[in-house]
Amino acid sequence: MVHKIAIVGLGKIARDQHLPSIAKNPDFELAAIVSRNAELEGVDHFTTLDDMLAARPDIETVALCTPPQVRRQYAEAAIRAGRHVLLEKPPGATVAEVEWLKNLAAKHGVTLFATWHSRYAQGVEPARAWLADKTIKSVEIVWREDVRRWHPGQDWIWEPGGMGVFDPGINALSILTHILPAPVLVTGAVLEVPENRQTPIAAKIDFVAVTGHTVTADFDWRQEGPQTWDITVKTDAGLLELSGGGSVLRIDGQTQLAADDTEYDGIYAHLAALLASGESDVDIASLQLVADACMLGAISKVEAFIE
Ligand code: NAP
Repeated sequence: MVHKIAIVGLGKIARDQHLPSIAKNPDFELAAIVSRNAELEGVDHFTTLDDMLAARPDIETVALCTPPQVRRQYAEAAIRAGRHVLLEKPPGATVAEVEWLKNLAAKHGVTLFATWHSRYAQGVEPARAWLADKTIKSVEIVWREDVRRWHPGQDWIWEPGGMGVFDPGINALSILTHILPAPVLVTGAVLEVPENRQTPIAAKIDFVAVTGHTVTADFDWRQEGPQTWDITVKTDAGLLELSGGGSVLRIDGQTQLAADDTEYDGIYAHLAALLASGESDVDIASLQLVADACMLGAISKVEAFIE
């Protein structure tokens, strides 16, 4: 069965990833775009979600590619209209609203899929399998990228709920919470907030695993040139390194895998499986860690960020 799907919010990630992955996947047909500003030639267009929901009862699934601050309202409307919902990451602006959406989806008998694209990087599952029976000694995350390259002209990332550098940092945490055998807890954080902005441009976070080892995270949005998306895990049986955002896996310096980016193809394959089984997939562990880092974080004001 081919699932008709609508994209809500035709911004960077919708164009870069969702459109190509939907086009490639025979289980989906792009049936409409909901956008306040943009249209796509040959595809039905609506300026509001409510108009689309009323006019196209045949569209059973919506992919919400908006910023997190407005996602709950869109998700609620779609769920109440009996549609399945894919949420871009982070799945919401607060932990509680995502939990609430999960319950609402269950009540309405629809699938809710809170996506974490980095979990579909090809080194992540092998890393999880390798770590499953190891004793972990420490974990170091370094996630440094150039905000001007990945979020050109986007104001929402600097506004409350936009999460600042946690917008990419949560990708690292989504991998961390997937590959480690035991949960981790935030113990402290320093958040560097530009004096002209509301959200951090850099953050250092300390965690402790319930099994006792430490985790450190260094998130920074000021890195030009080569970008760094690395997670290094020291274990009793050797050193595991995930780099390139999870696409490269090394163990004790030996490359096990260096793969192409197929993250969003993985997301749509999983969505098709969820729709077939009638299940939801909503894991908020990494969103909770970001919330906790903000609860415990000391604020350090840094120089203004001018785009
Ligand atoms: P973006 O380029 O700013 O696009 C977001 C789109 O959401 C806008 O084009 C806008 O589309 C729509 N929108 C609806 N209500 C809005 C509102 N109140 N304020 C602003 N936009 C609104 O952002 P993006 O980079 O695609 O990011 C969207 C989501 O994808 C974020 O949660 C982000 O974390 C995630 N993501 C981004 C990247 C990346 O590389 N940028 C990578 C992975 C995931 P219309 O004008 O069409 O209505």
